[in-house]
Amino acid sequence: MKTTDQINTAARKIAAARHSVALTGAGISVESGIPPFRGKGGLWEKIDPMKYAHIQYFLADPADVWRVLLKEMKTLLKTATPNAGHMGLARLEQMGLLKTIITQNIDGLHQRAGNTDVIEFHGNFADYYCIDCRLRQKFDDIDLRSLPPRCACGGVIRPDCVFFGETIPVNLLLRSREIASCCDLMLVVGTSAVVQPAAFMPAIAKDHGALVIEINPEPTPLTHTVSDILIQGKAGAVMTALIAELERLRS
Ligand code: NAD
Repeated sequence: MKTTDQINTAARKIAAARHSVALTGAGISVESGIPPFRGKGGLWEKIDPMKYAHIQYFLADPADVWRVLLKEMKTLLKTATPNAGHMGLARLEQMGLLKTIITQNIDGLHQRAGNTDVIEFHGNFADYYCIDCRLRQKFDDIDLRSLPPRCACGGVIRPDCVFFGETIPVNLLLRSREIASCCDLMLVVGTSAVVQPAAFMPAIAKDHGALVIEINPEPTPLTHTVSDILIQGKAGAVMTALIAELERLRS
């Protein structure tokens, strides 16, 4: 099927769905200038995220993780703004066509675009805390002149995100599973669908009868197995075209 036909089919399905949700990954933020882990231009080409984003390595050498991964991310996130992919999902919510986003991203861009129900499966880089006294710290208050940054108590400061090797907060996991099993349509945007348990959510949705629509320039392990449609393209262009078709169907 041609991409325009896929977009028209997807728009009709979204318009007819009772309860649509989205699962997003790093790919949706690529057009905002934040590199993904995997794929072309991904951080994986420069560093091994399984090392630098793993809790054991952070605890062993927090200065190195701050130097190589966290400092760069902190700088990138400061300047990044939502792109057409995020804005498209926000517009879907405004149109009453999207209830919830489950995101693996830690960049806060869905909320900045205007989505109101966002489950941050892996936490958020806007929030930090001391690993010893647990005092919460704000992004802009952290002094990076000496690494790792430390709390007044002397403890190392870490982002409030889920590193590889850590478990997803149980309330977020349970709510995501509930949402995946209740939806009748799931949009899966910009995820390589290899990081578990997030990658299970489309399978749960499918198992409960939902239609699964993927938006990604590349096929993933979900393609042809779990997803019903892969719209092969960048999130910004595909979401813009989808919204235009949905607006046309409404007019
Ligand atoms: P991933 O890095 O494993 O895969 C990125 C996916 O996005 C690939 O499938 C790629 O083909 C696709 N992609 C690339 N450009 C795209 C575009 N313009 N539009 C749509 N799709 C595009 O991402 P993941 O599956 O989310 O897993 C990585 C983990 O890394 C997650 O746990 C996440 O927490 C973390 N991460 C987050 C950010 C962020 O918050 N922006 C950035 C890097 C990594």
